[in-house]
Amino acid sequence: MASSGSPNPPNPDPSRRALLFGRRAAAAPMRPPWALPEDVFLDACTACGACVDRCPERVIVRGAGGRPVFDPRLGECTFCGECEDACTPRALDRSASEQPWTLKALIGDRCLPRNGVVCSSCRDACPERAIAFPVTSRVPLPSIDSARCTGCGACVGVCPTQAVALSPLATQKVPETA
Ligand code: SF4
Ligand code: SF4
Ligand code: SF4
Repeated sequence: MASSGSPNPPNPDPSRRALLFGRRAAAAPMRPPWALPEDVFLDACTACGACVDRCPERVIVRGAGGRPVFDPRLGECTFCGECEDACTPRALDRSASEQPWTLKALIGDRCLPRNGVVCSSCRDACPERAIAFPVTSRVPLPSIDSARCTGCGACVGVCPTQAVALSPLATQKVPETA
């Protein structure tokens, strides 16, 4: 999926996401799917960039030390497995885990409906139908079914207010509006 056309440049820095969502930075960057646990990944990854070059969606960028980081603002991970196939050092290794990752989508307070404006772009982009808008108020608010969410990131780049982020936490609740 193409980028949202956001005026803001791509920024995979987790500290900025944390700032936007009013929480502390995640311990590790978002690695490509099937990455080994971060400490093992850092030992195994040679920063060769093969996964970056192979990704057909162009959603992997080089982060600190040249190592790969998944940036959902650039598009959606389709879980095609090309990055894992390309990883010769096996820092990405499907045999180590069936789950590609534990990322889940979170919607923050910049969400338009939370501010009285109708929007459902994230729902329309979600390939898993994980986002619903129960009609409980004049402007329905988004609700994410974390059991359905694969953390693909399709909802991130389409959000006009950059209200959606991914978090590696295994279970999520939509943050309360301040
Ligand atoms: S699984 Fe496919 S789309 Fe997802 S990051 Fe890897 S190469 Fe890109
Ligand atoms: S696309 Fe963004 S602003 Fe629109 S409903 Fe989803 S999270 Fe809210
Ligand atoms: S990250 Fe989750 S909620 Fe967002 S589009 Fe993908 S499956 Fe749907």
